[in-house]
Amino acid sequence: MGEPVPESTLPYPPIYKDKKFVVLSDWDGTITTCDSNDYMTDNLGYGKDKRRQGNLDILSGRATFRDAFREMLESISANGHTFEECKEVLRQNISLDAGFKAFYAWCKANDIPVIIVSSGMTPTIRAVLSNLVGEDDAKDIDIISNDVDIHADGTWRIKFRHPTRYVSSRRLRALMRRATRQAPRARWALLPPTTHDAWLILSYASRSGYGHDKSHAILPYRDLPDPPVLFFFGDGVSDMSAARHADVLFVKEKPGGDNDLAAYCRREGIKHVLFDDFAAALPVVQAVVEGKKTTAEVLDAGKA
Ligand SMILES: [Mg+2]
Repeated sequence: MGEPVPESTLPYPPIYKDKKFVVLSDWDGTITTCDSNDYMTDNLGYGKDKRRQGNLDILSGRATFRDAFREMLESISANGHTFEECKEVLRQNISLDAGFKAFYAWCKANDIPVIIVSSGMTPTIRAVLSNLVGEDDAKDIDIISNDVDIHADGTWRIKFRHPTRYVSSRRLRALMRRATRQAPRARWALLPPTTHDAWLILSYASRSGYGHDKSHAILPYRDLPDPPVLFFFGDGVSDMSAARHADVLFVKEKPGGDNDLAAYCRREGIKHVLFDDFAAALPVVQAVVEGKKTTAEVLDAGKA
C-alpha cells in the first residue's frame, strides 16, 4: 500500500468485469499434488540436497526466492535438458488434485472463470494442464505466471514477470534490525520465523524478490465498480501477497503437517478455509454461489 508497483514485463489477461464470482488459484502444490519445479530440479537439475539448501537460503534471507529459483532452473538447462524435454517429463509425472477436474467443470458450467496464478512458468503449466484436463479446457483457463526464454543453442532461462525489486534494501535492513532486537536469538536459517516482524520480512522478501507478485492478479478486481466475489486457493509462501485480498481464501492442508500459508494467516489474523482437496472445497464454493451461505459464514467455519 502506497509502495511503487513493480513493472510487469508480461501481459495480463483481460479482467472479467461482469462476473459475479471469480476463482484464482496457485498451481504447484495446490492444483497439482507435487511441486513441478522441485520435481524438475530434483530429477533433472542439481538434485534434492542443493535444492533444499536453496530453500534454506531463501528462509534465512541469504537469497531471494527469485534468484534461488532461477539457479535451480538453470541447473536443469546446464545439465543439457531442453525445455521440450522438461515439458514431457512433467506431463508424465505431475498429477492433479483428485477433485480439480470436477471443480473446474462445475465452475465452467456456472460461468465462473478459473485463473491460475503461479510462480512457475506458463508453458510448463499449460503442457501439464492440457495433458490432464484436455486441450480445449486448458485453452480456456487463464494463466498468470512467468515465461521462458529459449535460446538458439537449446538452453533456456526463466523470464520473470516482475524482475525488479521495489522494496529498498534499507527498508529490509531496518526490518531485520527491529526483528533481531525483538528476537535476538532467532536463527533465521534453522528456525521458522517466530515474530510478527519476521513474517513481515518474509512478506516483503516475497514481494520484492519473488519474480511474480501475485497480488497484482487480484487487486484490479477490487477497483471494479461492481467487483465479483473472489475465491483464492493457495498453499505456500508465494501466495502470501495475494492472501489478504481474496473474499474467501482457501488454504490447502498437506498430509502430515502444516504449511507456510496457514501459519502466516494465523499470525496475521487473516481468516481462511482449510481444505484437503478441491472435492472438499467445491460444496463450500457452491454454498456461497447459490446464496445458501455468506462468505463470512464459510470463513467462520474455517474448514471445508
Ligand atoms: Mg504452491
